[in-house]
Amino acid sequence: MPGRPLPVADDLSASFWAAAAEHRLVIARCFRCNELTHPPDLVCPHCHHTDPQFRFEPVSGSGTVCSWTVLHQSFLPGFDDDLPLLLVDVRLDEGDVRLIGRLLGGADAALRAGSRVTVTFEDLAPGVAIPAFALVPEA
Ligand SMILES: [Zn+2]
Repeated sequence: MPGRPLPVADDLSASFWAAAAEHRLVIARCFRCNELTHPPDLVCPHCHHTDPQFRFEPVSGSGTVCSWTVLHQSFLPGFDDDLPLLLVDVRLDEGDVRLIGRLLGGADAALRAGSRVTVTFEDLAPGVAIPAFALVPEA
């Protein structure tokens, strides 16, 4: 059975994936407008500059769930053993930047809009890890 697909870093995302491999979450900040953006792209979504320059900076990995979906069917190889799996759309505490990732801990997690989560990492292969999220227990 094939394993899960691995991320393929390009020039824009190489720093993100290198940090993830070390279980660190970094997000790109545009030099021109100073806004965080993810994923970094050839056009900054904030200032619309077509030659944006980004620096990657560490973020807390803490955030709030905006929405989620439960996948019961896999459309990519390597996920069948993980079904059903829960994907969350998370707004990071550092600003208006969103990350979509898997919520670890089961598809029946007690989730609501506004649930607090923190980043964690799934090791997929030697030197390859991807960000995921874990629920922060409510006080
Ligand atoms: Zn910008």
